[in-house]
Amino acid sequence: MADKPKNTDVPEIETESPDLSQCRLEQVQEPAVIVIFGASGDLTRRKLFPSLFALYRNGLLPENVCIVGASRSEYSHEEFREIMRRSVEPESGGQPENWAGLARRLFYNPVSYDDPESFTGLNRFLEGLDSSYATRGNRIFYLAVPPTVYPVIAGQLGRAGLAEEDSRNGNWVRFVVEKPFGHDLESARELDKALHSSFAEHQIFRIDHYLAKETVQNILMLRFANSIFEPLWNRRYIDSVTISAAEQLGVEHRAGYYDRFGVLRDMFQNHMMQLLALCAMEPPSHFEADRVRDEKTKVYRCLRPFPTQELDSFLVLGQYASGRINGAAVKGYREEPQVRQGTLTPTFAAMKVFVDNWRWQGVPFYLTSGKRLAEKRTEIKVQFKQVPNSMFRAVLGEDIAANRLTLGIQPREEIHLRFQTKVPGPKVCLRTVKMHFDYNQGLTGPVLEAYEKVLLDCLLGDQTLFWRQDGVELCWGFLTPILIECDCPDQGKRLHPYEAGTWGPEEVKNLLPSLPGPHR
Ligand code: NDP
Repeated sequence: MADKPKNTDVPEIETESPDLSQCRLEQVQEPAVIVIFGASGDLTRRKLFPSLFALYRNGLLPENVCIVGASRSEYSHEEFREIMRRSVEPESGGQPENWAGLARRLFYNPVSYDDPESFTGLNRFLEGLDSSYATRGNRIFYLAVPPTVYPVIAGQLGRAGLAEEDSRNGNWVRFVVEKPFGHDLESARELDKALHSSFAEHQIFRIDHYLAKETVQNILMLRFANSIFEPLWNRRYIDSVTISAAEQLGVEHRAGYYDRFGVLRDMFQNHMMQLLALCAMEPPSHFEADRVRDEKTKVYRCLRPFPTQELDSFLVLGQYASGRINGAAVKGYREEPQVRQGTLTPTFAAMKVFVDNWRWQGVPFYLTSGKRLAEKRTEIKVQFKQVPNSMFRAVLGEDIAANRLTLGIQPREEIHLRFQTKVPGPKVCLRTVKMHFDYNQGLTGPVLEAYEKVLLDCLLGDQTLFWRQDGVELCWGFLTPILIECDCPDQGKRLHPYEAGTWGPEEVKNLLPSLPGPHR
């Protein structure tokens, strides 16, 4: 008898070192002034400025760049620089490396959103920067303010002439907004109308930072740069697709916003729909913004409307009660500060969705997302069908575990392929093994954080990772029937409580083939 082979449960895939010089982004050449409205707020401090600073340190900002904070708070340039400095201060304290270089290009300009004079003043200030720093009239207006303020700012920028691109000078102006893009179809259309009163579609960048995560971008590479997956990627071989985005966090400091939006508007209308489209779309003819977005839009057009008469077979909603996360007691949703008393806002949803086209007819896509779940884990599980005929029937029976491809998005960025092999030895026995690829394996270069990537794409004018309005409206339209149901006063009967630190309400077991989680 031969020696027992070494444990090969998790065989590693060898990676070939890529030629990184081929992968490096060309330096952004075009100068620009980046104006952040709402610069006194949380998003600017936690995400935007640290991302801009990281881009600067990696040499990915244009040489002639200025950053202008704008909000109602009164700061001097120096006070604002100090707030931003603290947002990137190393844990050990002291000056961040290369701080001085960016600090001298960092400014603050207070604005009053209802005063047109304030915007003509801003215009003069920006023109002054163009003269001093050769920023050539190129502008990015990044709106880090509550969404109710988007139309006001768009209108004021338009009236002050700040939205105009001048074909003679070749300058560009981009207007960047964060989700949520409305709270239903009607408000999304109203918002769009307001933005278009000043800006053309090519100027509007609707951010979904989820799309900029490396492993989300990798879905298209995996599907369309390999010939082994695509022939199987259809109803003939795939049994179901489960897309789950589980969070351990509760609503934290955003409870006021969250209680008005809930999980359907906060996660499903945007991130979950994007992941679905990336899994289900046809290959675009080119990897180019409008070609990619055209294909996503086609998926949204094929979504089968929810049967409102039998919604319980397609949708489970939940709200977290108190429980334990990592051994520590946590409050229930209704006890969180700023959450309305007796609120019926869902913090968990699981839904079964069908894409009615030739590729996917009859294949369920299970989408699930929630707060205060057992783990932070975003992943896509592609469950293949069982073999059509088992030649091992006599010895193994019919039930051979089917193949499964798992794409881990966060916190572990990885790919697993589950398949069957023979157990070494004289008997005919099968065992399930997993091939595992760690996305960061073998890579040495800098990896861009999601906000770094979206900011860089705004500077490059590349809209591939940004929402187009037709997609926004189709997704709102798809979710509208269940939003209406959920917003009606007796929706409480559909809202199932779940203990914080679990995988959601018990009822979800009737809907999903397996719960999200490591080895289910
Ligand atoms: P904040 O609530 O911190 O607001 C940002 C700034 O906007 C405030 O500092 C305030 O500045 C100004 N502001 C607040 N209310 C008003 C108002 N009614 N009218 C005019 N200005 C106002 O928001 P965040 O920084 O958390 O988020 C900004 C945007 O980004 C929002 O649209 C949010 O939905 C989105 N977002 C945020 C994320 C986050 O992690 N924070 C994640 C994803 C999206 P001042 O008073 O000085 O004018």
